[in-house]
Amino acid sequence: MSTLQAERLQFMRRRLEALRSRRLYRQLSVIPDGAQPWITVDGRRLLNLSSNNYLGLATHPAVKAAAAAAETLGCGAGSSRLIAGTFPLHQALEARLASFKQAEGALLFNSGYTANLGIIPALVGPGDLVLSDELNHASLIDGCRLSRAEYRVYLHCDVASLEQELSSAVRENHRGRRLVVTDSVFSMDGDVAPLRAIADLCGAYGAMLLVDEAHSTGCLGPGGRGLVAELGLEREVTVSMSTLSKALGSFGAFVTGSSLVMEYLVNVCRSFIFSTALPPPVVAASLAALDVLEREPELVERLQDNGAFFRQGLQALGFNTLRSETHIVPVLVGDSARALQMAEALRQEGIFVVAIRPPTVPLGSARIRASVMATHTRADLEFAREAFERVGKREGLI
Ligand SMILES: *Cc1c(COP(=O)(O)O)cnc(C)c1O
Repeated sequence: MSTLQAERLQFMRRRLEALRSRRLYRQLSVIPDGAQPWITVDGRRLLNLSSNNYLGLATHPAVKAAAAAAETLGCGAGSSRLIAGTFPLHQALEARLASFKQAEGALLFNSGYTANLGIIPALVGPGDLVLSDELNHASLIDGCRLSRAEYRVYLHCDVASLEQELSSAVRENHRGRRLVVTDSVFSMDGDVAPLRAIADLCGAYGAMLLVDEAHSTGCLGPGGRGLVAELGLEREVTVSMSTLSKALGSFGAFVTGSSLVMEYLVNVCRSFIFSTALPPPVVAASLAALDVLEREPELVERLQDNGAFFRQGLQALGFNTLRSETHIVPVLVGDSARALQMAEALRQEGIFVVAIRPPTVPLGSARIRASVMATHTRADLEFAREAFERVGKREGLI
């Protein structure tokens, strides 16, 4: 690097140094079999409690076989959806997703991140108001920022706090549109939004409602249809967003809602319009994943049972699992350095978990995030519980 260039980029070194000294530095680990229940890290076999491949569909034989669509349709779609990138396969998957979610329509996106980044600015803009749970996923927060609507945060899963924000908007004679955005299952806490009460408030205050079902589609509700379906709130939710990349095992995302909302998004949502369509093998894999889900709904049940078994095991040992009620089980540690140490100690014991630190979670609430898969056996989870017990005692957490 030239001296001039090195000087220009000095800010990067300073920023990285600051992250290191606060124990917030991050590094990629290379894992050749990262979606499997057991993985290989630095040559060692570890139990994988860090994958969002919750149902094991990423490596399911029928889903892998479907990716052979590349043979006939190619590896890439070659253009965006509104140009030449809508294959019959895209249309078939959207029809299938709409019926899966019992919605009038569905629309594919290239990732959950870009879906949220596009949808929120399509729904609200300057002069409007967006209300967001304080623990919402970063993609929702970024979508709110990009919208340039007035952004207010309500306390986590706190219906009274949301109502306060809505009623103060009414008192202030706020004239714009209103939008409430929330995760359904919170990704770092494993708890569940009080969606019925939130939907009621949206009804009472004339607000639109966007629900992010990234961690509930395939995991909760009848046949894995998600929390909105479990509560029968399809008609009250303006847009429901789900990923195809987590429980459904491949890649991409989709939204469901009324035909009007879908038609509107096709016309105005920039992250839908200005991006190449999902590759055919990915779309075919998602269709196959839905087939498997329909044929083997017991996968969802096994995920929930595994979640309950693991969570209750840790709770009985005295760990603080926050308000988790799902397959995502956090173990609160507090301090970032200590969380890193705990994750390392667990790896030594054969468990792959990651320390989740700020800014992903609030300051002082660093934690170990563990998530189970339907493809973990009881023996796997008992092995994990024993490792957590040894490490927790050694680290003084229990
Ligand atoms: C993972 C996740 C996303 C992003 O989805 P990708 O398809 O991985 O981009 C969005 N929202 C939530 C809550 C998530 O957990």
